[in-house]
Amino acid sequence: MLAFGVRRETPWPSTGRSISAMTTVMSRIAQVLLPLPLPEAFDYAEPEGMDLKVGELVAVPLGPRQVSGAVVALKDAHGHNRALKSVLARHAEPALPARALEFIDWAARYAVDSPGQPLAIALRGARAPKPRPQKLLRATGLRPARMTPAREKALATADAGSFPPKALAEVAGVSTAVIKSLIQEGALEIELREIPASFPAPDPARPGPKLNPSQAAAVEALRAMLDEGGFQAALIDGVTGSGKTEVYLEAVAAVLAKDPDAQVLVLLPEIALTQAVIARFAERFGAEPGEWHSGVASPNRRRVWEAVATGRCRIVVGARSALFLPFGKLALIVVDEEHDASYKQDEGFIYHARDLAVARAKIEDAAVILASATPSLESLWNAEQGRYRWLRLKARHGQAVLPDIELIDLRQTPPEPGRWLSWPLVQAMGETFARGEQTLLFLNRRGYAPLVLCKACGERLCAPDTQSWLVEHRYSGRLVCHLTGFSMPRPERCPHCGAKDSLASIGPGVERVAEEAAQLFPEARMAVFSSDTVQHPEAARALIEQMQAGEIDILVATQAAAKGHNFPRLTLVGVVDADLSLRGGDLRAGERTYQLLAQVSGRAGRADRPGRALLQTYCPEHPVMQALMAKDRDAFIEAEMAERRAAGLPPFGRLAAVILSGPDAQALEAYARALAASAPNGEGVEVYGPADAPLGLVRGRRRKRFLVRADRTVDLQAFMSTWRARAPKPPGPIRMTVDIDPYNFL
Ligand SMILES: [Zn+2]
Repeated sequence: MLAFGVRRETPWPSTGRSISAMTTVMSRIAQVLLPLPLPEAFDYAEPEGMDLKVGELVAVPLGPRQVSGAVVALKDAHGHNRALKSVLARHAEPALPARALEFIDWAARYAVDSPGQPLAIALRGARAPKPRPQKLLRATGLRPARMTPAREKALATADAGSFPPKALAEVAGVSTAVIKSLIQEGALEIELREIPASFPAPDPARPGPKLNPSQAAAVEALRAMLDEGGFQAALIDGVTGSGKTEVYLEAVAAVLAKDPDAQVLVLLPEIALTQAVIARFAERFGAEPGEWHSGVASPNRRRVWEAVATGRCRIVVGARSALFLPFGKLALIVVDEEHDASYKQDEGFIYHARDLAVARAKIEDAAVILASATPSLESLWNAEQGRYRWLRLKARHGQAVLPDIELIDLRQTPPEPGRWLSWPLVQAMGETFARGEQTLLFLNRRGYAPLVLCKACGERLCAPDTQSWLVEHRYSGRLVCHLTGFSMPRPERCPHCGAKDSLASIGPGVERVAEEAAQLFPEARMAVFSSDTVQHPEAARALIEQMQAGEIDILVATQAAAKGHNFPRLTLVGVVDADLSLRGGDLRAGERTYQLLAQVSGRAGRADRPGRALLQTYCPEHPVMQALMAKDRDAFIEAEMAERRAAGLPPFGRLAAVILSGPDAQALEAYARALAASAPNGEGVEVYGPADAPLGLVRGRRRKRFLVRADRTVDLQAFMSTWRARAPKPPGPIRMTVDIDPYNFL
């Protein structure tokens, strides 16, 4: 540990700074991987006496710039007579462990991308600013000559403990001027408190919760698996509310107890879930775990990154990018809600965090536990094949029963024109409200209306240069493109024909459904839960607490509220448009719809209150709807598997997509044809395309797609990288992206 302290620190450079690099006498060559989209690591001379080690972070020259990267290999320079630029300096940050480097390399090969891309993710924490000491105020014991009621209040508050200046003013209910004057007169003093580098040690010996027989059996099986050691994988497959979290918490406890240095990573698909899971860990182990996701402030990320690298943080709860943290002794990875499509990263470095979690566990010789109430077909297939231990939790925690799921056939009982709730659903809402119980109206669509159309000229309003409808948001009064983030105020006149008051809002989003529910039940207390209304984890926590306390009667929500939360008074779930995710028709539409609706329906009813779920649909005969109503997941999965097997689709075959984009339609077309001609011939591989992408125009760029299907036995990555290598270089503005195992077909 001390070694890091004595090194001279080199700041992470900003780009563009000019430096002079010279060649020096060298004994070894350092291969340095840079966090940039370059095909490979570069060679640099190791200056005499620097004594680098693999994994260390160094500054090197790149053209006129200075950049920082990781040493991935060191080799003897004997017989090497090409002049090389030298490594400039070593950074003080901890080195990346060898297995973390191996994982970065593996991930790049898997994604058919450059290794600098995953390295950039792995170094995010190292490049964040350091946490600064916290400024706190405490009372000195001196009393100023002149006392006022405000000063009394401030000093009485400070006597009870130290506070950050702003918080002291807020808690005492006084102005910041009062606080300032008390500092000037010596009654308060500033204390700088260092943020501790270590996280408090979790205590696995604390007593765990009482487990029901089904949970206890699963925990036993997991302990046996962990005792075997080495790479192991398990799937916890348990209906909503069966207590999966308690089960994996005990596996975490076993890992922590067995080895005092072992580290654990828990992945969650959504930031909104982290607070609840962190609270569970804090309760079970008496210490808060490290938290890692895009909502965590940079200095805190830096703290987690360093503590993980030095073994001073043993549990991390985080989003998918936490997979790239520099764990030195990773013993267990838990992937909660493993079926969730949010685990797929669609932009930049494209990867599926569930698949990479299994790969990292293999590299680390660690265990991986996947958990879900509605596992993905991929994981079920692996469980069926015996590659994963399959732990089914049947009994529902607290002896509650799954809700009754009923279908409302909208062809029989359509809502009135301009309305979205049919009378059977409205009636059920009325009964629920009268009993003092809660309703969740589910619609996976943000905003007020998904489409704004001009009644005069028929124009559908789109974002500029993008083939995507503008979504009306009435709370903010804006039209928003959910794809590009473009937004504008709702215009008074049609931007196309200039007609006044001609714009009509077509279709419902959560805001519109909330408006209708408020008209139907003016006395009911309403709230909307979507990523627009709830933007921070704290806001999510506040809304969830209000719901749990029974302060909300009707919650209108997107899938942000569909997962993991327990609302004891919620007895009715109304799904406004059960067919929504069936449209679009990609290969996972049925599976995704089943998973989503089963999860949402599972929110209704707990313990002593039986629940009901009503699904509004135009196709009640669809296998997904029938399976939900019959609560027959196995039959649905079997039918879905049979279809995929017949078509050779995942998990029975493999897919990859190639997406081309460019500003000029003709140039793009020409390149797409050349790319098609360069595709290698492979047995058991079919290349489809080029075809216009369903989203044909985004931010002024035209888009084309290829789809590659391969048999399971084919090395798809090898095929794709051969193709990439053979392909003519795309002309300047044309970009090519490879997406292994695509989830998005737009
Ligand atoms: Zn118009």
